[in-house]
Amino acid sequence: MAIATVNPTTGETLKTFEELGPEEIERRVDTAAEAARRYRTTSFAERARLLGAAADLLEEDQQDIARTMTLEMGKPLAAARAEAAKCVKAMRWYAKHAEGLLADEHPAEADVKDSGAVSARVRYRPLGVVLAVMPWNFPLWQVIRFAAPALMAGNVGLLKHASNVPQTALYLEDLFRRAGYPPGCFQTLLVRSSAVEAVLRDHRVAAATLTGSEPAGRAVAAVAGDEVKKTVLELGGSDPFLVLPSADVDRAVRVAVTARVQNNGQSCIAAKRFIVHTDIHDVFTERFTALMDSLTVGDPMEESTDIGPLATEQGRDDLAALVDDALRHGATAMCGGRRPTEPEALTKGWFYPPTVLTGVTPGMRIHHEEAFGPVATVYRARNLDDALRIANDSPFGLSSNVWTRDEEEQERCVRDLEAGGVYFNGMTASHPAFPFGGVKRSGYGRELSGHGIREFCNATTVWHG
Ligand code: NAP
Repeated sequence: MAIATVNPTTGETLKTFEELGPEEIERRVDTAAEAARRYRTTSFAERARLLGAAADLLEEDQQDIARTMTLEMGKPLAAARAEAAKCVKAMRWYAKHAEGLLADEHPAEADVKDSGAVSARVRYRPLGVVLAVMPWNFPLWQVIRFAAPALMAGNVGLLKHASNVPQTALYLEDLFRRAGYPPGCFQTLLVRSSAVEAVLRDHRVAAATLTGSEPAGRAVAAVAGDEVKKTVLELGGSDPFLVLPSADVDRAVRVAVTARVQNNGQSCIAAKRFIVHTDIHDVFTERFTALMDSLTVGDPMEESTDIGPLATEQGRDDLAALVDDALRHGATAMCGGRRPTEPEALTKGWFYPPTVLTGVTPGMRIHHEEAFGPVATVYRARNLDDALRIANDSPFGLSSNVWTRDEEEQERCVRDLEAGGVYFNGMTASHPAFPFGGVKRSGYGRELSGHGIREFCNATTVWHG
């Protein structure tokens, strides 16, 4: 894919960028390694000062960077502003809490004695240069979610961002430079995915984090495995949204729509499979379809738009192919189901209407694959056991949502849902204080919270005889 800003609302190529050559990549990796040697000796207070300065700048830039994101990948402008605000919050959270999260750990006195030591502790030290391979769907947030804890831990970052968000990628490098970070602490590499392997194999790069699709994760993890380097993978998801008879159905319907269409439906933690108890299935489906069908699809720069275009033409084609396959094999489209042919404005960009499918069976691709756009599948479950069976019948295990007020049912779900999160009577949303990540094909490792910041640390045993 060329490195370019292509407006998904119109299909127009607005700006193209030269890919960095091997010499420039070498220079940047070297600068990063040199920065890592010095930056690791800085105090938490100094790191917090720098991250706080970056957060302040981002807050000032919120309107402009939101427009850039909307231009590059089509999310509604209000959502882009909210994304920038969320980044500011996470940066301030890590600036405040990192020192406590990485404080020396002291094993129990009896265990210290048992080891023959006078004293012993665990110190969290940085790993060095971390390569971050990031996707376009939350082009600021995915990067900040990595960068804020990594920088507070004393690591430095090399960003390989998705090829369709180069202006956001360059903004991020500039943000950290303006905040006063020493040269090399955070750099953007404008390169295609084919350049990732060589960077990751470089002995000066210690580890990698990738947020993106399963094939990309597999490719990066294979190289990292070969080089014995630590990785965190945040991959796809097809999160279940269970609605059981004790649920407040009207609220569940409203939240279900938001959970499905947030970010034009292109969120890894969007609820994608709606698994509804048979007693309330018909009423839920009818209201859910009506609300999905009433959403406004259009120009994401307009404040009245609910759903903008998909980010890339390929993404729209992939989504349409998943729906077509389901319809060919007997599913029913309660609304949507085909790309728009009118009005003209919607035929230029990569729009796809909100779509609700029923009658989905395991023989259809959409049952097992991720629908990365505003397409929901609704399943009928006979009882809780059946709902859990359908929920777990997926290669993915990112997060999950359950609507029930029954405490026994809640406990069953916490015990049995194969996912990195279980959200009751609400929708999955990340927060700096909670670990974020998945199981199964959704990846491994965690971001955010203390779990996230420790992923790229060397937990060092310090023992005194
Ligand atoms: P993608 O195609 O996998 O791209 C993600 C990043 O990986 C891009 O920077 C891409 O570069 C790079 N890449 C692709 N193939 C690669 C390879 N073989 N080796 C090295 N790097 C490679 O994913 P996407 O389409 O941008 O994003 C959508 C996917 O990300 C969805 O599956 C979504 O669920 C997942 N996602 C997961 C999370 C999470 O936290 N779990 C969050 C957001 C998104 P190029 O752009 O140059 O190809």
